[in-house]
Amino acid sequence: MNLIILGPHGSGNGTQASLLAVSLGLFYFESGDFLRESAKVNPRIDEIVNKKGELLPDEEVFGLITKYFEEKHPTLENFILDGYPRSLKQYEMLKNWLLGKGKKINWVIYLTLSEDESLTRITARRICEKCDRVWNLVTNPPPAPDTCECGGRLIQRQDDTPEVVKKRLEIYQETTAPLIEVFKKDGILVSVNGEQPIDTILKEIVAKVA
Ligand code: AMP
Repeated sequence: MNLIILGPHGSGNGTQASLLAVSLGLFYFESGDFLRESAKVNPRIDEIVNKKGELLPDEEVFGLITKYFEEKHPTLENFILDGYPRSLKQYEMLKNWLLGKGKKINWVIYLTLSEDESLTRITARRICEKCDRVWNLVTNPPPAPDTCECGGRLIQRQDDTPEVVKKRLEIYQETTAPLIEVFKKDGILVSVNGEQPIDTILKEIVAKVA
């Protein structure tokens, strides 16, 4: 089964994607982490991803992602995509590429969240400098506001600052949100209320797709 998971920033798609990958045995791909790795060695990608919070060009992301899948998961079966596709063009490119290989996306899981809650959650996100674990001061609080379980210092992601968050939310509304109707038309949309407890959301998703 091939899945896409998406939702407004802070809707818990990363958390649910990791849990689903384990419980359904899926290959997990997260475009944000993947591109942040590329940003470490490419100043142009660093500028777009970490400083501006804008999307990388569709063709470029498609090229990077398809190359990665051909190397790491060439069966193109049993995967979950988190953060990709994020525009109509990206979805069409992905769909056609998969179609050419006799594969498809089975379900798109859409986690719903109000705009206010999205902003609250995203600005409350903290990352451990030492082990990269992701915490949230509101929904998944660390043992202390500035310390991870491993003892590492908690920091805010460069693109989680208010100015960059505002830009990212605008892009989500303009470019990514319209995709929901397209998934609905394609008959693959599964909507789940992202404001419920983590366990409840997971159970609801599994019951709908498995
Ligand atoms: P995220 O961690 O999902 O919020 O992604 C962090 C950043 O990576 C985004 O603000 C974009 O700059 C870049 N990025 C992630 N996914 C994509 C994508 N599908 N298309 C273009 N840029 C992306």
